[in-house]
Amino acid sequence: MKGFQINSFSTQIKGNWKYFNSQDYNYRFNLENGYFARWGKTFDDDPPYSRFGPEIADIEISTICGMYCPYCYKANTDKGRNMSFEVFKKVIEKINVNKQLIQVAFGLGATGEENPDIWDMCKALREQNIIPNGTVANVTEETAKKIAAHFGACAVSNHFLGAAGGNNLCYDNVKRLSDCGMKQVNIHYVLARETLENAYQVLHDIKTDSRLKGLNALVFLSLKRKGRALNSNVHQLKSNEFTGLIRTALSMNISIGFDSCAFPKFSEATEGLPNREKLLMMAEGCESFGRFSLYVNVDGRCFPCSFCEHETGWKKGFDVLTTDFMSDVWNSPEFENGRKALIKTNGACPVFEI
Ligand code: SF4
Ligand code: SF4
Repeated sequence: MKGFQINSFSTQIKGNWKYFNSQDYNYRFNLENGYFARWGKTFDDDPPYSRFGPEIADIEISTICGMYCPYCYKANTDKGRNMSFEVFKKVIEKINVNKQLIQVAFGLGATGEENPDIWDMCKALREQNIIPNGTVANVTEETAKKIAAHFGACAVSNHFLGAAGGNNLCYDNVKRLSDCGMKQVNIHYVLARETLENAYQVLHDIKTDSRLKGLNALVFLSLKRKGRALNSNVHQLKSNEFTGLIRTALSMNISIGFDSCAFPKFSEATEGLPNREKLLMMAEGCESFGRFSLYVNVDGRCFPCSFCEHETGWKKGFDVLTTDFMSDVWNSPEFENGRKALIKTNGACPVFEI
């Protein structure tokens, strides 16, 4: 390893638990239910990043998608490409260098099976005690069964704008997955001014629609001005609109989540709430730029996060397959500078207006 050293560490599997132990970075991860706890030298320490490599990798195994959502930041179409199983295995070998990786979030198309190697990829991950997760929009019953057998968690995107079906398509898919016995089924919902009114409808439906009985959480995603969203008539929420929605969801006792990009807005939305401290303990700012997560695109090139791809300074990213991952990527000056900026700003996005 060039110019980079890490102290001793150990990983262990005990029953359903994966342990990572070192002097100043430790975790426990439950392979069954996804429970995760991380600490540093003592239980009160919160390490600002993992110096052993990513805990979570977002890996784009397909750019094929026929949904044509107007805010798709990847601008995916049905003419995309797949990552081969061979490349996938090499990518995992490279980035799981210290056996520290615990989850892979697949970048998929809407049906979940655009890449025919997905189930072999899942098996390869499970063999290494890495849990596969993914997001879909419209799966068949057959695919739902396979997802339930292989994934730890699955999100269903609610594509209220653009795709035929809207809420109904989403709720039918949530039911299809939870009927297969999946406990961790979430809804992913892109927040925009144009989707705000319907977001309140979804909150109402979570309380009343029997198809959502098995839902784990409603996860709000921030709109990025990128890809098709650049040229579509969709606009980011104002802070007060975001706050109103969050406070309504909390008052309805609905389990909600966010992408880490929204952490500063979430923090603002909880100001003055009696349980603010507890709420903030469960949230975390941006984890990219070599803190805890990594994105690898369909060509095996990696970037701090999927949104950084094609952005200024990140046109090509790093080739995971041909570089020394820890010294050339995870501890590269590009990642280190971003990491320092994130730690300073408590995880506020250094790339986009959120
Ligand atoms: S947002 Fe997701 S479902 Fe929609 S076109 Fe893009 S990849 Fe497909
Ligand atoms: S760098 Fe910005 S867009 Fe990327 S994950 Fe972090 S907050 Fe989100």
